[in-house]
Amino acid sequence: MKKRQTIEEFDRRFPSCRWTKSAQAERTAGVKRCRKCGKTKDVEEFYLFLTPQKAKRFASYCRPCSNTYKPNTTTEQRAENDRRSYYKHHEKNKARARAAWYSNHEENKARQRKSYAERKAENEAEILAQDECDICGKPGAAYFYRCINAGNTQDNEFAFWLVLHHVCQFEAKDARLIPWTSRIRKKEVLK
Ligand SMILES: [Zn+2]
Ligand SMILES: [Zn+2]
Repeated sequence: MKKRQTIEEFDRRFPSCRWTKSAQAERTAGVKRCRKCGKTKDVEEFYLFLTPQKAKRFASYCRPCSNTYKPNTTTEQRAENDRRSYYKHHEKNKARARAAWYSNHEENKARQRKSYAERKAENEAEILAQDECDICGKPGAAYFYRCINAGNTQDNEFAFWLVLHHVCQFEAKDARLIPWTSRIRKKEVLK
């Protein structure tokens, strides 16, 4: 029988990875409740994992329960489900970004009547005021992309701007909303 890995060995294997908050608390307590059998057992009774973010954690089920656990979908089915949900999500995000793009475009047309300096200040205030990411829809978007044709009075002067998370730029670039070679900037620079 394969010798099971201790917490100490796991720590030595991944020295640069942190433990999740809940795993830290479980280590301090020295015990953890199994989500399947409901028994509270020594933390050494649980398998060890890395989360997708490379943080160390304990399995939700104790080792005996993990060993008897049979997933009701095959690995292939699960991979297929993951792919589907990714594309569904991806399409939704692309649609959201396009809607933001076009609504910005309409607002910018109305802005044309004002002076360049006024239009620019107004646009920057809007960028700073928007916390929601145009790509994923979640709050905390600290970056923006803007295409300015300075000195040009065409109606596309500030037509293209998006507020987004740093990580969401890749999705925006994938969807061709931002050119691959362009850089996004921190909203802070506008303050
Ligand atoms: Zn159990
Ligand atoms: Zn985002």
